[in-house]
Amino acid sequence: MGSKVKLRPLSRYLKDYKHGQSHCSHCGKVLDRMALVFRGQIINKEAIARMDQLIDDQVWFKLQNELTALCRFCSDIYCNTHPTYFDIMAFKQYLFEQTEMSHSTIREYVVRLRRLDDILSASNFPAERLRDNSWHESLKNSLPDAGTNNYRIALRKYDQFLGWQRN
Ligand SMILES: [Zn+2]
Repeated sequence: MGSKVKLRPLSRYLKDYKHGQSHCSHCGKVLDRMALVFRGQIINKEAIARMDQLIDDQVWFKLQNELTALCRFCSDIYCNTHPTYFDIMAFKQYLFEQTEMSHSTIREYVVRLRRLDDILSASNFPAERLRDNSWHESLKNSLPDAGTNNYRIALRKYDQFLGWQRN
């Protein structure tokens, strides 16, 4: 008999992995409620429990590259946000990595842009109306009356992000 390869259920590996994660891998926040994301999808406890196929360390080593532990906020943006106009995921990362903003402020900016994206989508706003790489300029006269100022502030910040991205 050759050397025995030790096999364990995938769910066991996943549970161990989950317990080993302490910080969100996108924003660095300490994880209280964690989402385990595998190949772009959140896998919940029930799904993990069903993953009972037997694998060895080598297979696990490869699979691990496709796993991410995220906080609820980051996982929600990563898995459930499909914006038309703004790159909200990259914008969020920019705010986390290039500014000193607090989590709650970043969340506020993201929420505003998401809402604005929905409003623009609903009215079929032509994306090619983006002028001089400034959404703030382009949307000056098209912002919804409610919360205009909040949208303006978020758009200015988004323009800064676009400028940063270009350099
Ligand atoms: Zn996060």
